[in-house]
Amino acid sequence: MKDCIFCKIIANEIPSEKLYEDKRMIIIRDISPKAAVHLLAIPKKHYADFSLLDAEAKAELGEIFFAIAQNAQRLGYGDGYRLIINKGLNGGQTVFHLHIHILGGQVLPFEKL
Ligand code: AMP
Ligand code: ZN
Repeated sequence: MKDCIFCKIIANEIPSEKLYEDKRMIIIRDISPKAAVHLLAIPKKHYADFSLLDAEAKAELGEIFFAIAQNAQRLGYGDGYRLIINKGLNGGQTVFHLHIHILGGQVLPFEKL
């Protein structure tokens, strides 16, 4: 997708250290970390947000969550972590290419939901 920063990272048009990569996704460090470990799991396919998934995404998201779980120890969030998807402006989304925040590497603050 033209002018999408995450598509450019996936295509190596913008350099970024890929901590994990497979045919469906990458995991990179968030440029503005909000926790000791703050990573982003990003599907290679461009979905503008969580409401714009297609049939392929049903299987793809399962693989992505599995990879997040499998890589926890290696990537430094194995002692406990929080996964967040911000959807839309009201949800705080700023980059309109679906991504899952992985926050960990510390005791995370708890706010009653
Ligand atoms: P969201 O607000 O949920 O859309 O999250 C977007 C996240 O992407 C923010 O936490 C940003 O810090 C992060 N971000 C933006 N540009 C980059 C980049 N070039 N590399 C890594 N993370 C980025
Ligand atoms: Zn994109």
